[in-house]
Amino acid sequence: MKSVTDKRSFKTTFHRDDVIIESPGRINIIGEHLDYNGGQVLPAAINLKVRLSFKKNGTSRCNCYSKSYKDYFEIDLNKVEISEKEWHNYFLGVVHFIEQAYPNKIQGFDCTVESELPIGSGVSSSAALECGIAKGLDILFSIGLSDDEIITIAREAEHHFVGTKCGIMDQFAVVRGKKGKFIRLDCTDLSFEYIPANIEPYSIVLLNTNVSHNLATSEYNLRRQECDSGFKAIQEKYPKYHVLARVPEEVVREFKSKLASKTLNRLLYVVQENARTISASKALENGNLKMFGQQLFESHEGLKNLYQVSCDELDFLVDFAYEYEGVIGARMMGGGFGGCTINLVHKDRIDSFIEESSSAFYSKFNTSLSPFTVAIGDGVKQVN
Ligand code: ADP
Ligand code: MG
Repeated sequence: MKSVTDKRSFKTTFHRDDVIIESPGRINIIGEHLDYNGGQVLPAAINLKVRLSFKKNGTSRCNCYSKSYKDYFEIDLNKVEISEKEWHNYFLGVVHFIEQAYPNKIQGFDCTVESELPIGSGVSSSAALECGIAKGLDILFSIGLSDDEIITIAREAEHHFVGTKCGIMDQFAVVRGKKGKFIRLDCTDLSFEYIPANIEPYSIVLLNTNVSHNLATSEYNLRRQECDSGFKAIQEKYPKYHVLARVPEEVVREFKSKLASKTLNRLLYVVQENARTISASKALENGNLKMFGQQLFESHEGLKNLYQVSCDELDFLVDFAYEYEGVIGARMMGGGFGGCTINLVHKDRIDSFIEESSSAFYSKFNTSLSPFTVAIGDGVKQVN
């Protein structure tokens, strides 16, 4: 069979019996930069998704088209190696790691990706993409991957092919998300439980700054190193601590004179954020929404001052939200240096909040926000 070689062919070869996958983005209510520090996080899958359609093409080639980028590539499955173009590497990485675990299962396929998720804005279009690829190939070739395997393969692809040393939270939420539920996930041992996302009368509004400072990947990887090296110093004295997030704050403070002040601040942020995440989920379960929201404002202070991953645009929006009647919590969300803020907004105030924050943002930065309200949706799944 002839392989598909241009984007027009994808339209004409799209059949009802293709495997069609919807893979959601995710939010994280609180617990930022904690997954790789063994902390607790509170993510959820959202109702905005990446959509992928897969079909076998009877060759040994993989042909992929992104409608978002209007870009196409094809590779020989016998020569899978890292590409110069970032988005190709999500495919190549997933193919590589499935092939490593289950040799000779993947054969030639065509895949088209389209997305309603903003890209590079902190709602994890990357995890949506890589988990969607893994799920689609799993079904197309009847491989039988478990959810845990999909999560791991997707993360390995991002680490080794894309080069972002991400934690596990994004892939976990994308795969295990459930409509109407937040996921309380302990990143030490990946134990988790669903908690009802009962935040009525508030809704989740994301304000996308559309800013993406190119520090994001390098600073992300640097924060990991800073936390690792600081934690190593603590472990030398206290080998009983196995993960940074669980070290008591007073123990971290003992290292004030031994660690560079920047490193100490990174560690303080981690242990304080972990405590905030635990308080936030307790407050939510007790129906104390004011207290729940307050943890988000405090989280932002920590991300800005101690972890130093915020930027002027995000700070401006969180300050705006803090002063706005009807908003009970807000913070930057995701890796930082741009992307979105997450806001808990009273449902009667959503329109005015969006309008006034957009206008204030435009006056200050001369650039537009993209606001959107999200609901909590299901994880990655086949939809046909
Ligand atoms: P985020 O995960 O917050 O959206 P990342 O920088 O981690 O931001 O991931 C964005 C990258 O994921 C893009 O630069 C691109 O390589 C890839 N990606 C996401 N969605 C698509 C898509 N629809 N088509 C092609 N590549 C995509
Ligand atoms: Mg990402």
